[in-house]
Amino acid sequence: MFYLESLLIKGFRNYHYQQLQFNPRLNIICGGNAQGKTNLLESIYYLSVTRSFRTRRDQELVNWEEPLFYLKGIFYKYDLRNSIRISYRKNAQLKVKVNDKAVSRYAHLQQFPIVVFSPDDVLLIREGPSIRRRFLNLEASRLSPQYFEELRAYQRVLQQRNNLLKKLYGRGSRQINELLEPWDETLVSLGSNIIHTRVKIIKYLEKEGKVFFENMTSSRETISLEYAASVEYSEAFNETKEIFRRRLEKAREIEIRKGSTVVGPHLDDLKIMINGYDSRKYSSQGQKRTAALSLKMAEVSLFRKEHNDCPIILLDDVFSEFDEKRKMHLLDFLRDNSGQCFISTAIGIDNLLESISSDYKTISIHQGRASDEVSRPGN
Ligand code: ATP
Ligand code: MG
Repeated sequence: MFYLESLLIKGFRNYHYQQLQFNPRLNIICGGNAQGKTNLLESIYYLSVTRSFRTRRDQELVNWEEPLFYLKGIFYKYDLRNSIRISYRKNAQLKVKVNDKAVSRYAHLQQFPIVVFSPDDVLLIREGPSIRRRFLNLEASRLSPQYFEELRAYQRVLQQRNNLLKKLYGRGSRQINELLEPWDETLVSLGSNIIHTRVKIIKYLEKEGKVFFENMTSSRETISLEYAASVEYSEAFNETKEIFRRRLEKAREIEIRKGSTVVGPHLDDLKIMINGYDSRKYSSQGQKRTAALSLKMAEVSLFRKEHNDCPIILLDDVFSEFDEKRKMHLLDFLRDNSGQCFISTAIGIDNLLESISSDYKTISIHQGRASDEVSRPGN
């Protein structure tokens, strides 16, 4: 089982110094608005992934009155105790230590499976393609170090190729082809790998997401996912490469005029459809939230499959916007999922939670401090 046993937070968001012990099964973080509930979940997520689910700028995470933040957690993984320590000082590099050994934040990314659902996840459905590409890239990188390396290499090649394209305007076509060919070869090969990994993940997310979504809507609605690629990919890897290569050749003139690469996975999108219609354009707020939650719960099963165990689940304010039926289905899911779960809420939900597990802990947050810790041992 994966679980976080304890956490020490220093100088993170509105926390100055806080020590916490958690229940291995269920933890309820309660308190009024703007007290630090989401901040606490964010610190747990950061400890596991070295990233926030709210911002890409680590500076924002440092308490306004402090020079640095420090997080220390005791994380159990397959019954082994791991101590994770992370510190960040403004304008300096992040330091990560696992069991007293320094590790890179990229190596840390795949180690401690955790899934978060927050109100901002609805942006996954509502916003433009780049947020969904980021979602796919992060999920794939957390599952596979190879994907992460390929993505970094692809982005480097893309940058260099774009720089070259800007210098080619007005040159003869033979020279242009000679100069571009080596870049094209690497771009095509890395890009096709990226496409294939994304498609594999999307298929899995669709399969699992469908089940969750249909349960949430009592089988009245259905969700489907489609990889919207700028290169028509094929099941056969070499064929995708060939198509990608031909598309690049065709796009030569446009690319030189624009000074940038106009085909490839850096432009692709994940299409999310509800009952066959593009959810970005047609679905209601509640449908969008259900779709986003389904993607996240599909991610839970993806991690469970990869790691043979349940990831930690963080649910920020999840009960506030769903109708009763949807709430009940979510509770069923959480009861059947045996992993550790943290649920933040500004409203009283004790009556709901009893149905997930009789063994839980409530942590009240007030102005960046935890108080009134109440433990409820199971029967
Ligand atoms: P809600 O129920 O409204 O979602 P919350 O309890 O989840 O509230 P948080 O998002 O955790 O609230 O934020 C609590 C407070 O932390 C906010 O008032 C915010 O201004 C403050 N805060 C955010 N970043 C920092 C920071 N870097 N330093 C100090 N305080 C911060
Ligand atoms: Mg909040």
